[in-house]
Amino acid sequence: MDRAACAERDADDPLASHRARFTLPDGVIYLDGNSLGALPAGVADRLETVVAQEWGTGLIRSWNDAGWVDLPARVADRLAPLLGADADEVAVGDSTSVALFKVLAAARRLRPDRRVLLTDTANFPTDRYVADGLAELIGDLDVRVVPPAELATSIDAHVAVLALTEVDYRTGARHDVAALTAAAHAAGALTVWDLAHSTGALAVDLHGWGVDFAVGCSYKYLNGGPGAPGYLYVARRWHDRARTPLQGWFGHAKPFAFGDTYVPAPDARRFQAGTPHVLSTAALDAALEAFDGVRPADLEAKARRLTNTFITLVDQRCGGAVEIASPRDAAARGAQVSLRHPHAHAVTQCLIARGVIGDHRPPDLVRFGFAPLYVGHVDVHDAVDVLADVLGTGAWDRPEYHRARTVT
Ligand SMILES: *Cc1c(COP(=O)(O)O)cnc(C)c1O
Repeated sequence: MDRAACAERDADDPLASHRARFTLPDGVIYLDGNSLGALPAGVADRLETVVAQEWGTGLIRSWNDAGWVDLPARVADRLAPLLGADADEVAVGDSTSVALFKVLAAARRLRPDRRVLLTDTANFPTDRYVADGLAELIGDLDVRVVPPAELATSIDAHVAVLALTEVDYRTGARHDVAALTAAAHAAGALTVWDLAHSTGALAVDLHGWGVDFAVGCSYKYLNGGPGAPGYLYVARRWHDRARTPLQGWFGHAKPFAFGDTYVPAPDARRFQAGTPHVLSTAALDAALEAFDGVRPADLEAKARRLTNTFITLVDQRCGGAVEIASPRDAAARGAQVSLRHPHAHAVTQCLIARGVIGDHRPPDLVRFGFAPLYVGHVDVHDAVDVLADVLGTGAWDRPEYHRARTVT
């Protein structure tokens, strides 16, 4: 496959025009949208308006006049189609870690007679830490951690909650959410899925998959900006019974009635806890305009084409110097490909110095994310050009590329 073949693929790409909805720096091929999404075109103006006019001039009046109080609900409206959900099943706010704590606690309360929270060794560290912390707090919950291949046989009548991340942050391997959710339900358990590396890149279908609860992150493929709020999903069938452990006033049915006792809002919004983060929620609201008219199935189809192209080119050009650590079957991976190299950190730093931005996950992975809205096949081609040179010449083996950094 050559550059012309990649240009042809871009010419056939129904999402190609969406790149213009982003501000990308010259001289950079950005393959790290799975860590921090690129800047969508309208965000800077929106923040300028929110800060200078709504805050600066409108002051407290802007909670009503500029609709600040409804911002989380407006963002939920925009997120719902990307999740295969309805807007009143989605609550926006806090970080993914906090959202996860809330829904894990809620799911456990719906299965009080069972004491196992089942997860796998591939899960993201924060997910494991949050589960352990919840178990310590409530006392009668055991966190059982098994290798991904043993999940299906580990779901038994003791499991209250199956809590997993759809796409493995290291390898990009993807769980079969529908099958594992069905297995959990057959055993009487509930499911909590973390969609941090899914939403905005894959055909997420929470209704179709039958998921009970989900959480996710909006600064990765959703491009909400650094520290953008997380979100959570509560299936409608649990709306009357699911209880948040953080009963804050913004989850109250009538926050501004200032009542003496907590009365939960009727839908997923009961999981909001405190005052919305207006600046970051407004940025996310503007960022999600980049997804207007985009079908999740098209995102996934493009992600598969991009990652297939990348793997083909790496096989052709870098054969032997790296190992493909991601599944070769496109249906079994997310919008990500990881390469194994004994000096992955230095290789990553050298690539970044040459304008190809991916990231490193210890001990030995160089990770590339292929955000379907703004990455094209020619980008993939040019990135592999640089990668082949970096690996072939050993250019990564210089002291400055071995220096440790706080954020990898
Ligand atoms: C990125 C990521 C998170 C991030 O959690 P925060 O609380 O937003 O820092 C959580 N879970 C997974 C699987 C992730 O990949």
